[in-house]
Amino acid sequence: MMNFLRRRLSDSSFIANLPNGYMTDLQRPEPQQPPPPPPGSAAGPAGPPAAGSPAPERRPPPPQAQGQSHQPAPQPAPPQAQPAAPVQSMSSSFFSSLSNAVKQTAASAGLVDAPSSTPAASRKSKLLLVIDESHTDWAKCFRGKKVCGDYDIKVEQAEFSELNLVAHADGTYAVDMQVFRNGTKVVRSFRPDFVLVRQHSFGMAENEDYRNLIIGMHYAGIPSVNSLDSIYNFCDKPWVFAQLVAIYKNLGGEKFPLIEQTFYPNHKEMLTLPTFPVVVKIGHAHSGMGKVKVENHYDFQDIASVVALTQTYATAEPFIDAKYDIRIQKIGNNYKAYMRTSISGNWKTNTGSAMLEQIAMSDRYKLWVDSCSEIFGGLDICAVKAVHGKDGKDYIFEVMDCAMPLIGEHQVEDRQLITDLVITKMNQLLSRTPALSPQRPSTTQQPQSGTLKDPDLSKSPPQRPAPQAAQASPNSSSLNQPQPSQREPRKTQPHPQLNKSQSLTNAFSFTESSFFRSSSNEDEAKAETIRNLRKSFASLFSD
Ligand code: ATP
Repeated sequence: MMNFLRRRLSDSSFIANLPNGYMTDLQRPEPQQPPPPPPGSAAGPAGPPAAGSPAPERRPPPPQAQGQSHQPAPQPAPPQAQPAAPVQSMSSSFFSSLSNAVKQTAASAGLVDAPSSTPAASRKSKLLLVIDESHTDWAKCFRGKKVCGDYDIKVEQAEFSELNLVAHADGTYAVDMQVFRNGTKVVRSFRPDFVLVRQHSFGMAENEDYRNLIIGMHYAGIPSVNSLDSIYNFCDKPWVFAQLVAIYKNLGGEKFPLIEQTFYPNHKEMLTLPTFPVVVKIGHAHSGMGKVKVENHYDFQDIASVVALTQTYATAEPFIDAKYDIRIQKIGNNYKAYMRTSISGNWKTNTGSAMLEQIAMSDRYKLWVDSCSEIFGGLDICAVKAVHGKDGKDYIFEVMDCAMPLIGEHQVEDRQLITDLVITKMNQLLSRTPALSPQRPSTTQQPQSGTLKDPDLSKSPPQRPAPQAAQASPNSSSLNQPQPSQREPRKTQPHPQLNKSQSLTNAFSFTESSFFRSSSNEDEAKAETIRNLRKSFASLFSD
């Protein structure tokens, strides 16, 4: 039996397929000759590796264990020839890991909190996942803040590249995080109540595509800033530009001076343009990448031939001989305007050195950004970009979403604004009650502020009236609406374009934890756990 296990644990593909948490134990460096544990020493997590030692990556498997085959491969030395001590060590590690796997499975079934979460009994915190690079310490921003009354906010921060998740149609989900902290790989599984997305979900130039994670979080119904719907919509710049075209058609060019632009789904129609120079923007890329200034018809043909190789779309717009760039940002109800002037002479002011100055907000700028903040059902955080030409005219060319980088002197204040915005949204969208009895009497069919009041919870699947949908006026067009000077909190000011599915997923997320912890569903939940445990055991032992 132990020989079999040893072979299985040497199989890299087997290890890779283990649940998270399981792997951490296995990857912990094993003592070469484990002495009997001294009295009182716990078999808890190993401390950080000794200085100079490599990260606790798994040792390379012996060559005979590399294959996928589950048949015992011919081995030069019979397993029995191996010293007994490592086998013992491996077995104890195996069983402690197994117990972790069991805990993880139960956690993902929603019956207990994942290892990194507060124990269910004393859960007085809401878990916020911030997707951002590590240079901004978001935990610091949220320290000491409360939501939903007296709930602490526990922050997990990671980049898209460090995240994975699983989401089930029954509303359960688990986000996995693998981060390197001081050279040590930390693997955690948790269930965020809310997400703040501060990174681009997609960039062709970076070859980073995290749209699957956006889909997964949406599938799980995790509420977020900005909405996951809108973030997904922001994954193609021309798709966003189409919304700007709609605003332009509604407000007119005087009020909303949108740059002229031509869209090409591929290179085939890129024949010529009436005037040059133009800026060709290829695909969906950031930081100035894929943007080329084209002086004449011949260069345009050259660029068309490059587009032919990229398998993506391109746009062309007049090159504006610019005095400066304008950026109007809106975080919640806070507005700021900046101008950016190139110092290095690069026509892309976001490349090379540039001078940034805050400028006064005008009604005109406010109209731009307010109009843009209504697209895709509403953007909590956004910024409009324009160039101010030497001809004295403004040309709006893009809107950014919650992934926009913070700029200027007020970044600390902007982070605080984002923090406050997230807390406001969490208060609106999260339930104060971690567990509710399905027998609880109901006074209304319309839940308020995410409080679950469905009287027949035990029978019905988690499809309850969504607070936002209940108050939405689905036929109104955001672009035709007068802009409210003070936006109401979203629970009373629904986004006109908010679609049903989003409302439902939000409603789903307030209630699912209660649902799966409710006593009347205990049997079902237990059965689900057992099914999941069976699956885990099956994957551990099956050939
Ligand atoms: P992001 O990083 O915000 O996703 P990006 O940097 O990839 O965007 P743009 O902002 O479209 O791409 O372009 C980069 C810079 O090039 C702008 O900040 C602006 O200074 C300049 N620019 C863009 N379009 C034009 C144009 N049509 N005419 C003149 N300058 C332009």
